[in-house]
Amino acid sequence: MHDIVDLRSDTLTLPTPEMREAMARAEVGDDVWGEDPTVQRLEAMAAARLGKEAAVFVASGTMGNLVSVVAHTQAGQEVVLDLDSHIYNYEVAGGTIVGNVQMRPVQTERGFLTPDQVQESIRPSNIHIPQTGLVCLENTHNRHGGTCCTPEEIAAVAAVAHAARVPVHMDGARLFNAAVALKRDPRDFAGPVDSVTFCLSKGLGAPLGSVVCGSADFVGRARRVRKMVGGGMRQAGVVAAAGVLALDRMVDRLAEDHVNARALAEAVATLPGLSVDVETVQTNIVIIRVSRGDRARSVQATQELVAGCAARKVKIHATGPMAIRCVTHKDVDAEDTRRAIEAFRELTSRW
Ligand SMILES: *Cc1c(COP(=O)(O)O)cnc(C)c1O
Repeated sequence: MHDIVDLRSDTLTLPTPEMREAMARAEVGDDVWGEDPTVQRLEAMAAARLGKEAAVFVASGTMGNLVSVVAHTQAGQEVVLDLDSHIYNYEVAGGTIVGNVQMRPVQTERGFLTPDQVQESIRPSNIHIPQTGLVCLENTHNRHGGTCCTPEEIAAVAAVAHAARVPVHMDGARLFNAAVALKRDPRDFAGPVDSVTFCLSKGLGAPLGSVVCGSADFVGRARRVRKMVGGGMRQAGVVAAAGVLALDRMVDRLAEDHVNARALAEAVATLPGLSVDVETVQTNIVIIRVSRGDRARSVQATQELVAGCAARKVKIHATGPMAIRCVTHKDVDAEDTRRAIEAFRELTSRW
């Protein structure tokens, strides 16, 4: 039970006392010189967890995706990705600016490119046409509400890309949520793709940091790009120490967040004027649609819900004019979830 129930994002998780302790004690060195033992330990752990040869610690998920896009591609190439993907929508067009690549967004039904869509998007060899340099996937899918694609779906997409000699990057910011939800080994998801980024700073509770995993050759190139974008972080072991604990101790408990998200989704779905596609609540994200008569009233009702919840010490985030996103995480327990449900119930009782 917490004073404030903060459902705006799982990035709001605070480091555990154990993490603070480990950060204070961390053995460190200059990571740009390859001399930070704690960063090396984290990178080795991450690579092993995903079954990849090597890994590189980066400041954020955005930086992880950026260095991956740039390390995989050449200027002028095209990157095929989902229209609703985080890379296309929320990463300030970094790949386009730093990597000089052209983004090729494809509208998908569930946020996941199908093998046919990838096949259709890969460019033929022709003097007029840009070459396809990379395919990007996202798992779990943020804008689609934390939905998961299976290792088999990933493998089917990767097979098509690889047949055309195009590498595949997975934005696995919440990959461990997918692995826990589907009860699969993270290596099953990472196996078919060439690189994966995952965040330590979301449900895993570390204060910051992400890791990019892939072949030793790819990670070597990614390390150079990381340096170029200012991500060479010197005694980064101070924060990597929290990342080690995040990987070690915080993965299995993600299941609790999924239980809380489902409880919230099922309760909210029964309330007047609110709807949730409960099927999509596979992990820790709940997307709530607000509908009260016409559009103007619905938009106003959404704003009133956000304000009304805040007045009840429940923080929620409007991701659209008539959409609210709630994200469960380690700092929201079952009691907090009940308080959030109660807030929604009170605020919609006279609708
Ligand atoms: C959060 C997120 C990122 C970016 O991570 P930051 O650490 O916030 O830069 C990338 N992809 C997805 C799907 C995310 O949810």
